[in-house]
Amino acid sequence: MRVINFSAGPALLPEAVLRRAADEMLNWHGSGMSVMEMSHRGSEFTGIAQKAEADFRQLLAIPDNYKVLFLQGGAMAMNAVIPMNLLGKNPRAAYVNTGEWSKKSISEAYKYGEVDVLASSEDRQFTYVPLQSAWKSHAGAAYVHVCTNETIGGVEYHWVPNTGDVPLVADMSSHILSRQIDVSEYGVIYGGAQKNIGPAGLTFVIVREDLLDRALPITPTVFQWKAQAEAASMVNTPPTYGIYIAGLVFEWLLEQGGLAIMEQRNIEKAKLLYDYLDSTSFYISPVAPDARSRMNIPFFLQDSALDAAFLDGAERHGMRQLKGHRVVGGMRASLYNAMPIEGVRQLVDYMREFERSRT
Ligand SMILES: *Cc1c(COP(=O)(O)O)cnc(C)c1O
Repeated sequence: MRVINFSAGPALLPEAVLRRAADEMLNWHGSGMSVMEMSHRGSEFTGIAQKAEADFRQLLAIPDNYKVLFLQGGAMAMNAVIPMNLLGKNPRAAYVNTGEWSKKSISEAYKYGEVDVLASSEDRQFTYVPLQSAWKSHAGAAYVHVCTNETIGGVEYHWVPNTGDVPLVADMSSHILSRQIDVSEYGVIYGGAQKNIGPAGLTFVIVREDLLDRALPITPTVFQWKAQAEAASMVNTPPTYGIYIAGLVFEWLLEQGGLAIMEQRNIEKAKLLYDYLDSTSFYISPVAPDARSRMNIPFFLQDSALDAAFLDGAERHGMRQLKGHRVVGGMRASLYNAMPIEGVRQLVDYMREFERSRT
């Protein structure tokens, strides 16, 4: 029996994808090999990688003047890789601090250049996104970095910062493919796969071509975006199995009808939970309503002494990984693409039942 999995990441995957991967595990399309056993330079695997990239491009309508890279290292490696690739001509980087992931990006960037923090929401425990009108000027910066969905705090940008000619760099690890975006508004979009795409170990980078000419000379070759773009992400061995599973997820998303449909479903799912949270004082949603994430929804029980009983009861109802991140505490429900609305209904039903039993 599969559980209802609310993990923030690594997270649930569509059951259809897991079944297909299981069917193809020992013998992929008559090749007599598992995808894990294939040379990354052989025709079978290069076909898998090309199809994955083409489908990713189609889902996000990625313009031709952007490269797509599938790398290793995770989003945290990118915290170093981004300044290394973008500060070669201008050492000044600008960041907006909206939570734990922004903070990690900022502290790593100091190793490679000058860092200007344009705005921060730390004054209210990272529960909102500072309006751009309140940001310091980004003039003269090599790039402006934002985390458009803070997985831990549950804070999401529902608007796109306008940084003019200064490239906007976005960590979209935990909401990529959850909504439609206009890629052309960004210079770089990146993230780890293990939230809404596939298994851990795969990192995606979408980078505008004109930004490939400004790497610091110290940049490790496997992390030089220009070299990776020229080699179709195969300077080194890419995370082949992760790319294969991501490709199956992209096919699944296209079968569902693409990101317009997924976005509608994600709005509906999140609304179900937020509406309930707003209807009671038994539970508390800490995030400003205009910055609430559709993907990661933290909430608290008014009486935290009941936390353990709440989690025990959830487990008995087949609901797992609802415990909040240790930095925030309380609970967190992650509602990625693969979470069916029925899973959210069951969570809300359980929460209502728990409230009734304790009041
Ligand atoms: C999970 C996450 C990361 C870190 O990913 P790793 O793969 O552990 O490096 C960074 N940013 C955001 C927004 C995340 O959700």
